[in-house]
Amino acid sequence: MYSHICTPHSSLPSEPAVHRRKAQVDTSPTSFRHVGASRRPINSVITLTGRYLRNSTNFFDVPAQPDTYWGQFDEISKYNVSLNYFERLWAAWYTYMNNDVLATGIMSFVMHEVVYFGRALPWIIIDCIPYFNKYKIQNHKIPSAKEQWQCAMLVLLSHFTVELPQIWLFHPMAQFFGLQTSVPFPPLYKMAYQIAIFFVMEDTWHYWTHRAMHWGPLYKNIHKIHHQYSAPFGLAAEYASPIEVMILGLGTVGSPILWCALTKDLHILTMYVWIIFRLFQAIDAHSGYEFPWSLHHFLPFWAGADHHDTHHERFIGNYSSSFRWWDYVLDTESGPEASKRRRERKLAKARKAQ
Ligand SMILES: [Zn+2]
Ligand SMILES: [Zn+2]
Repeated sequence: MYSHICTPHSSLPSEPAVHRRKAQVDTSPTSFRHVGASRRPINSVITLTGRYLRNSTNFFDVPAQPDTYWGQFDEISKYNVSLNYFERLWAAWYTYMNNDVLATGIMSFVMHEVVYFGRALPWIIIDCIPYFNKYKIQNHKIPSAKEQWQCAMLVLLSHFTVELPQIWLFHPMAQFFGLQTSVPFPPLYKMAYQIAIFFVMEDTWHYWTHRAMHWGPLYKNIHKIHHQYSAPFGLAAEYASPIEVMILGLGTVGSPILWCALTKDLHILTMYVWIIFRLFQAIDAHSGYEFPWSLHHFLPFWAGADHHDTHHERFIGNYSSSFRWWDYVLDTESGPEASKRRRERKLAKARKAQ
């Protein structure tokens, strides 16, 4: 992916000027590392950095090689000035790791853990502050520290045993479907509209699979675990059977993969940002808090905590994840307001029939 990224070690003595030019990079991390330090042929001993290392066996002068992540970052920064800071961090990571599957696997897993627990932490803190109790939807059910701890341990166990192996398969799968891993990154507008599409796709998948999981046998054998908490809290977002994690996770990972298979236009970074947004959505929907500034007050079709909390409380209706339209159109909305609307509709129908 990064074969056109310039590093001093990719330069031959006769063509140094080429490497001072802007890098247009549309390659793979695999090829990037071939021009990196560790596999550099002996004829590339003259570098633009002017740093040398005595090779005692061959009595040749060879350049010092960056063996740290920040060493790689510095090398890339010197010769790829057109790349922004994050693009250089990204390129340095793949070069430093020298193993694409491992580089993507570690990055994905760490990102998932940091975002999941990082986003759940403010909700844990809010649960401990009595001031926020007035915003708690089911305010007589504040989760205890023990409950939160047990939930966190189970979620963590599931992350290491069920999700980690799947995350490891992510890079080969991404490569198979042609996800780009190159730098520069795609423009923001493209990331934004693609992520908006993934939200709609995932929400549709979630609605139908979640609704199916409320069918007796599937509920009993799979979905019941997630409903252990009738008043949810942030950490409980991924508290579920491994089968459920796989089924619902398919909506999150499968939506961009399907998009990429159809359009051949998706960058892995867009996928990461999408997964971060989706984790925020899932954790916030389980937070149990409804504020005057909650998003659904401004975007009436946004589901939010208000929507999903009712699902946990009543065990029926409100099956979708991000939006309210599926439940609205198919009349599966839950809660007293929805019941009232349903009653009024029935009454109006009866009056009309008379
Ligand atoms: Zn459910
Ligand atoms: Zn839930």
